Amino acid sequence: MTRIALVTGGMGGLGEGICIKMAALGYRVITTHSPGNTKAGEWLAAMREQGHDFRAYPCDVADYDSASACVAQIVRDVGPVDVLVNNAGIARDMTFKKMDKINWDLVMRTNLDSIFNMSKQVCEGMADRGWGRIINISSVNGQKGAFGQTNYSAAKAGVHGFTKSLALEVARRGVTVNTISPGYIGTRMVTAIPQSILDSKIVPQIPMGRLGKPEEVAGLVAYLASEEAAFVTGANIAINGGQHMC
Ligand code: NDP
Repeated sequence: MTRIALVTGGMGGLGEGICIKMAALGYRVITTHSPGNTKAGEWLAAMREQGHDFRAYPCDVADYDSASACVAQIVRDVGPVDVLVNNAGIARDMTFKKMDKINWDLVMRTNLDSIFNMSKQVCEGMADRGWGRIINISSVNGQKGAFGQTNYSAAKAGVHGFTKSLALEVARRGVTVNTISPGYIGTRMVTAIPQSILDSKIVPQIPMGRLGKPEEVAGLVAYLASEEAAFVTGANIAINGGQHMC
């Protein structure tokens, strides 16, 4: 039986790594992109050249109706989702003094409301079928806070509160719900930070002395999606090169 894995934001740095890993393990991989993403076709073509037959659907994960319509279409086209990886997210960093309502709301809606919007579409079906995996991508900065990230840290911390509560509700129905909290991974979200700040402030905080790689996070996603991880639920698994230990 081929399991269906839906990875939101698969065209981003982490998401692409997760899609490739899940495909290598035999999952039918579906991803989403922002409705305004004009490079989706290009990405799909590049993936096809590498031998990956991914399907991609436009979806604003921050918008409930968009999430609902997108997943309904996926179910009609491909079938019910077995593994949901809530990966799409954004950062809009600024000190609290400068933080405005627009950037607060945008980050909360994209990083936290999205987890509800997407999980709501698949969770009950997973539970009815007696098997499912929901894997939420949070952040080390949701665990420890970060200067200039009141919005992002609050949203990412909220992700884990959601995870623990939903994990309790579906534990007896074959569905696991877990959080992964990556540290700094070398994707465009991080490479957008000026190199001088990366070198002087960020990398020195990481005991391993380097940024993480998308494939390292993807390996953890693959584990949580596997049969072997059936007894892991409500966990928040850090992958941060030793930057934050708890
Ligand atoms: P990228 O910026 O590379 O990718 C983010 C992805 O999210 C893009 O594919 C983007 O899609 C998608 N996305 C953003 N907003 C929306 C929206 N409203 N609707 C649908 N899709 C949306 O970031 P990363 O790959 O680095 O990050 C992936 C996840 O990992 C995020 O949740 C991030 O917070 C988290 N994370 C990343 C870390 C890092 O160091 N990189 C560290 C800790 C956590 P599109 O391009 O189509 O707009």
